[in-house]
Amino acid sequence: MKTFFKALGNVFKKPVTTKYPFEQTFIPDDYRGLIGFDENLCIWCRRCEMVCPPGAIVFSQDMEGKQTYHFNRAVCIYCGECVRACPKEGAIFQTAEPAPCALKAENINNGWNKLFDEALASREAYAAEKKRKAAEKAAADKAAAAKKEEENKTGN
Ligand code: SF4
Ligand code: SF4
Repeated sequence: MKTFFKALGNVFKKPVTTKYPFEQTFIPDDYRGLIGFDENLCIWCRRCEMVCPPGAIVFSQDMEGKQTYHFNRAVCIYCGECVRACPKEGAIFQTAEPAPCALKAENINNGWNKLFDEALASREAYAAEKKRKAAEKAAADKAAAAKKEEENKTGN
């Protein structure tokens, strides 16, 4: 009998569901949505990449040293670790925007793994080139110093 009255009472209650997509679902204030990035505030320390559990962030680097941020919303688990680890407030932030469906290129099997590996390789290439240039400069400086010393000795 109790169940009957409860069921009858529910007939006159407002539904608890929303008619999505005609009605927007309720989003709480502390909802962890899409990750945003502001390259004007970023200091390119890559801490966000280091702490990201599933590897949803990666930075590539060109041969001039300029870094580019890449984020994969399909890989992200929206934990907020990147935001907490960032030393520069506002450089990376969590929005209240729900993540839309992933595109094919964002699928880990179709592009992201390749992009990730290429980004790491681009950094290695930049580091190797930087090291090569430093060694070249050191050798040139040493040769110039030796030449100067020789000139001093001969009085030229
Ligand atoms: S929210 Fe978590 S999973 Fe998403 S990018 Fe940041 S650290 Fe990675
Ligand atoms: S942790 Fe912050 S400052 Fe460092 S690279 Fe990431 S967004 Fe930029």
